Amino acid sequence: MLLDLSEVFSNSDKTLKEKVTYEEDTFFYEFTRYTWLTKPSASIEVKNAGKKKVSFYAHVSGLLEVPCDRCLIPTEVTFDFDVSEEIDLNQSSSDDKLQEISQFISEDKRFDTQGFLDLELFAHYPPKVLCKEDCKGLCKKCGKNLNDGACSCNREELDPRMAKALEVFNQFKEV
Ligand SMILES: [Zn+2]
Ligand SMILES: [Zn+2]
Repeated sequence: MLLDLSEVFSNSDKTLKEKVTYEEDTFFYEFTRYTWLTKPSASIEVKNAGKKKVSFYAHVSGLLEVPCDRCLIPTEVTFDFDVSEEIDLNQSSSDDKLQEISQFISEDKRFDTQGFLDLELFAHYPPKVLCKEDCKGLCKKCGKNLNDGACSCNREELDPRMAKALEVFNQFKEV
């Protein structure tokens, strides 16, 4: 959605409050499309503080379903963060140091909420998604979820010579 900021930008006592919702049912991240369990929403507050300074604040929250990085079971990823920025209207938009928020505000003072949400959600995506801190993952041989218990393939399928070597190694370790 395009949020019209022209009034709040031109009136020094004006405050604009708006709640916007992410426009897609899914989120595209690193070549994969994930489904929102709760579509993200942003409570946005834009306040003209006078002297051509505008404060921008947004609280963003949403819930995404992503497979665990280790065992692949569907895992909830919670987004819950704040974004705040001081927009200086004296600065020209062609300024080299383009501010985070300002890049989503067009010449005619319309704020692209979807573009803003996309960037912020991308920035807040967790580096690792785990169903639980100590997820044991899947057995690389049989694919069993090792959180449900150990599988039998590990030792039994070892090459006998390898098993012997391991035995020697373990004896040596115990000394
Ligand atoms: Zn897991
Ligand atoms: Zn196994």
